[in-house]
Amino acid sequence: MANEKYDLIVRNGEVIDGTGASRLTADIGVHGDRISALGNLSEASGEVEFDAANRMVAPGFIDVHTHDDHALLSKPDMSYKTSQGVTTVVAGNCGVSLAPLRFTGDRPPPPLDLLGNGYKFPHMSDFFDAIDANPAATNAALLCGHTTLRVGAMDNLKRPATDNEINQMRDQLAEALDAGVVGMSTGLAYEPAKPAPTSEVLKLAELLGPAGALYTTHLRNEGNDIVKSLEEAFRIGRESDTGVVLSHHKVTGKENFGRSEETLEIIERIRKDLRVDLDVYPYVAGSTVLQKWRLGEARRVIITWSVPEPEAGGRDLNEIAEDWGCSVDEACDRLQPAGAIYFMMDEADVQRIIKYEHSMIASDGLPHDHHPHPRLWGTFPRVLGHYSRDLNLISLEDAVHRMSGKPASVFGLAGRGEIKEGNFADLVVFDPATIIDTADFDDPIKPAAGIDAVYVNGRAVWRDGAATDARPGKALRRAA
Ligand code: ZN
Repeated sequence: MANEKYDLIVRNGEVIDGTGASRLTADIGVHGDRISALGNLSEASGEVEFDAANRMVAPGFIDVHTHDDHALLSKPDMSYKTSQGVTTVVAGNCGVSLAPLRFTGDRPPPPLDLLGNGYKFPHMSDFFDAIDANPAATNAALLCGHTTLRVGAMDNLKRPATDNEINQMRDQLAEALDAGVVGMSTGLAYEPAKPAPTSEVLKLAELLGPAGALYTTHLRNEGNDIVKSLEEAFRIGRESDTGVVLSHHKVTGKENFGRSEETLEIIERIRKDLRVDLDVYPYVAGSTVLQKWRLGEARRVIITWSVPEPEAGGRDLNEIAEDWGCSVDEACDRLQPAGAIYFMMDEADVQRIIKYEHSMIASDGLPHDHHPHPRLWGTFPRVLGHYSRDLNLISLEDAVHRMSGKPASVFGLAGRGEIKEGNFADLVVFDPATIIDTADFDDPIKPAAGIDAVYVNGRAVWRDGAATDARPGKALRRAA
């Protein structure tokens, strides 16, 4: 429209709208927190203008697999996210959510300590309120973690929950759903949730379907028993009438290399009568707490943090054991509590899963680690630069779709994930020729290259290689 005045105009960019459709040249006009025009705005002016010539403009990326619960409050500039173009995070994955957290003692049991320490929200609504009161740079949707519920309801985590404990957990979950969580997550591979039988999870998950919420799961086993674990997840989805998201899908351990062919075939078949989606991070190494049983399936282990031995962060476990003149197992004991990176996947599987059309790209980054896995800073630019541009594994439009439109639709994030009039102005401007991750396993805390500007709800949160001091993020409550 001639002479129209906008708060922000992003001009001359190649717009990839997030639906998977081909790019087109357009200007984007923003009023307040919304996209109000898309097209030729050469006659209009903006309070702020950004020239995106020779750049791509995409919907801000949605990182559906994060452990950012604590960081949303303690590191609200979220620069490890915004520097990658991420504008919305889904926190509370793998059974581990910061709320509704009830525990006695100084430190919650692992893996809850992946979230850091210092906050305690007995009700999910308290956590939402805290985000409202102190917004972060990014938007946040939340999951309620099954392990967190267990820690709150049970005095002994080494057994299945009793009926009484299940009822307490159901009350907490119902409250969390009322507060607006997008679903419940499980981490059935972790000690405090392992003893939970399928029936325990089912009694909680049955609240999800009627609420229109999702079931996301870190499977009980991602190695030899991957198929059995997939079947358990599908059963939970089916019987509770809810969509399933398979977290950080992978196959681990040398003897399972290549089996993503089998798992993706199973998923594709199940999708005919069950909503199943998955997320994946673009690396052959995973990262979580230091667990002895994992050492056997990893070809290399790097310590990411250790409470008694902080200087071990960034060092190989083998080297540490050698220095200490002890076995790897003994070193493992001495480092606890601790976190680690495990090289345990095959590149061909990682590529096959990234390529699979129903995979969403997500980081699983751990923001409190002393020496974090590079996925924390690199995931999205790595897929765009390395896997899409350099290896041509998927088109740029498809990659962007799996980072924006697809996750918004799977997680029901209304008004996000696509560039269109009326949607929220969550935008990323990047250079397709230079975008790339720069964080690696030796030097993991580094912003990616090629991201020019990132906007959340119409306001710049990342510009010229640095975080701004804007905190326009919103807590995204599930629509009732
Ligand atoms: Zn996990």
